[in-house]
Amino acid sequence: MGALFVQSVKEIDFLLVNPWIYDFSAHDFWLRPYGLLKLAGLLRKEGYKIHLLDLLDPFHPELPKPLKRKAYGTGHFYKEAIPKPHFFRDIPRRYFRYGMPFKLFLKEISGLKFKAVFLSTTMTYWYPGLFVLIDFFARNFSDTPIFISGIYAKLCRAHLEDFISRYSWAQIEVVSEPMEDFVKKLKRQFLPKGDPHPFDYPAFDLYREIPYVVMLTSLGCPFNCPYCASKKLYPHFIQKEPLKVVEEIEFWHKKYGVIDFAFYDDALLVNFEKHLGVILEEVLKRNLKVRFHTPNALHARFITIEVAKLLKISGFVTIRLGLERVEDRLDEKVTLSEFEEAVSNLKKAGFTPRELGAYLLYGLPEEDFEKVERALNYLYELRVSPYLSEFSPIPGTPLFDEAEKSSRYPLSEDPLFTNKSAFPALRNPDWKKIHQVKNLAKTIRKTLLESSAQAFQEASCLGGKG
Ligand code: SF4
Repeated sequence: MGALFVQSVKEIDFLLVNPWIYDFSAHDFWLRPYGLLKLAGLLRKEGYKIHLLDLLDPFHPELPKPLKRKAYGTGHFYKEAIPKPHFFRDIPRRYFRYGMPFKLFLKEISGLKFKAVFLSTTMTYWYPGLFVLIDFFARNFSDTPIFISGIYAKLCRAHLEDFISRYSWAQIEVVSEPMEDFVKKLKRQFLPKGDPHPFDYPAFDLYREIPYVVMLTSLGCPFNCPYCASKKLYPHFIQKEPLKVVEEIEFWHKKYGVIDFAFYDDALLVNFEKHLGVILEEVLKRNLKVRFHTPNALHARFITIEVAKLLKISGFVTIRLGLERVEDRLDEKVTLSEFEEAVSNLKKAGFTPRELGAYLLYGLPEEDFEKVERALNYLYELRVSPYLSEFSPIPGTPLFDEAEKSSRYPLSEDPLFTNKSAFPALRNPDWKKIHQVKNLAKTIRKTLLESSAQAFQEASCLGGKG
C-alpha cells in the first residue's frame, strides 16, 4: 500500500465506509446508509474527527460519467457490469457492481490516517461489498481495528463471523450493542482529536450534495408479519419525541435547503395523534415548505379522512401503502375493506395516482401468477399505482423456512441465494410469466398517470372557462 500514499496526510480519528452493492439492480430511491450516518453523527458529537466514504455517492465528481437525477432527489448509482455468480446463470439479467470504480476508492483513502474503520451494510445479500472491504482493510491496515454493524451483521451474524475467522491477525469486531452504548465503549478506547460537534443528527452534511434527508422517527413495528425482519431487528416498538423530529426537519431545511424528506419508519402512522400528527401540525405551524416520501409502506388501516388531509396539506407527495396480497393474505396489518377505505380517503384528500401507490408482494413459495395479475387489476380498478416487490426470504422469519422447502437453492447456506431478483422461493421460475406481470404493472402505472394528467388538464380548462 505504501506506494499509493502520495498525497499529503490527513489525520482523522475514524473512517466510515458504505460498501459497494453487488446486485442485478439498485436505484437511489432515497437510499442512504442511515445507520452509518447516525453513527457518524454520534461520533462527531463526542468530538471525533471522522471521514465518510460512501462508495455509492452519485455526486462524486470523478465518476467515469455523470449520473442522471430524477424527481424528488432520487436517481441512479454508478454501475459496472460484472460476471454473475454461477448459480444465477438461469436468471436472464445482467449483474453489476454499484458504486465508484476500485481505483477511485484507492484514491479516496490514500492520504487518510485513521485509528479505526467502520463498515456497515443493509440488505443481507449485499454482503459481498462488505467482504471486499474487510479483506482490503485486514490485509492493508492490519493494525487498524475494523468495526462492523448493520442489518446483515445482525441477521446473519454466524455467516459474517465465519468469514471474519479467516483474518485471524486482524482486529475485527461485530457491533452488537445499541449504537449509543457502542460509542460509550469506544470512548474508553480512543481519545477524540477534535471538539464536540453541536448536533448529533445523522451526518448527511458530510456528502457533497444533499438531495434529500432520510428520517427515522421510530424503531420497529407493533405488527409481526411472517415475511418481515422488523421484529427481529427491533423487538420493541419505540417512537422518538415528536418535537425533536420537527427540529431535525427544520435544521436540514433551514441550514441546508433540503426540501425532500423520506421516512424509513416501519410503522409511521401508529399512534398518529401523539406522534406523526403532532409532527405534521408543527411542520405546518413553522411554515416549513418541504416534501415527504414514504418508500417504506404505510399502514392503510390508520388512514382516516383526517389523517389523509393532514398528510396532503403538510407536503406528502409519495405515498406507498403496504397491501402485499389481495388473495391468500399472509398478515393482519390491513384488510381489503380497510385498504379501500384508506384509498378513498386519500383520493378525497387530493392524492393522485402519481402520488399514491401500493406494494404487492410476489414470488412467494408456489406462487400463482394469475393471482398476481388479479391483484394488479384490483389496484387498477381502484386507480392506485401498483409497485411489485419481489419476495426475498429473510433469515429468522417464519416464511424463510417455507421458502427454503420450495427453493432451488440451499437458502440457509448463503444469503446471496435470497436475492429478490432470483425469485429464490421458486423452484422453477417462469421468467416469461415474471416478465409479463412486471410489464402489466408498468402499463397500469403508465395508464393511470396518463389518465390523471388528462383529467388534470380537463379540470384546468374547465377552470379557465369558468
Ligand atoms: S406491518 Fe410492515 S413493518 Fe410491520 S411487521 Fe408487517 S411488514 Fe413488517
